[in-house]
Amino acid sequence: GNNNINAKLVLLGDMGAGKSSLVLRFVKGQFLEFQESTIGAAFFSQTLALNDATVKFEIWDTAGQERYHSLAPMYYRGAAAAIIVYDITSKESFEKAKKWVLELQKQGNPSMVTALAGNKADLEDKRKVTLEEARAYADENGLFFMETSAKTAVNVNDTFYEIARRLPRA
Ligand code: GDP
Ligand code: MG
Repeated sequence: GNNNINAKLVLLGDMGAGKSSLVLRFVKGQFLEFQESTIGAAFFSQTLALNDATVKFEIWDTAGQERYHSLAPMYYRGAAAAIIVYDITSKESFEKAKKWVLELQKQGNPSMVTALAGNKADLEDKRKVTLEEARAYADENGLFFMETSAKTAVNVNDTFYEIARRLPRA
């Protein structure tokens, strides 16, 4: 087909979960051990070619800090997709992810394609959030779920491709 889709995508989640690293991996194929923390938000774009459509993602990588929380609606309002990121080595970041899910359920666009990404899957020995508990939570809330690693690239492109596949076609 000849479907060109522009899709605004927002990344939400606790500071340090790896939002910027996932974007850097997806957009540039790179990883930094000392990724600088995001101030406010950063914008990126990346195009994916699927069989039936070309999807141009307009990506807003938000800062995770509480003091920027009030800015978040500017980024998720009107977004076609969201990736809510937590760090599998941090229970706290998983709890924070659940808060974002609730906020999107209350205030977000109801047709938004929402993914839950359990990042830092390479740090298996430091895992605090099990795959089973995250998957159960995602299923209950109708989220698409994957564990990812921005470091090793596991499931990073797949997450964006799966979102692209789920976006409504014109
Ligand atoms: P953000 O605040 O959510 O944007 O998180 P960052 O992308 O800035 O990442 C925070 C820290 O975690 C940085 O030191 C990254 O190098 C590290 N990091 C991010 N993703 C991964 C990952 O998948 N595996 C590992 N081991 N470290 C990661
Ligand atoms: Mg960041």
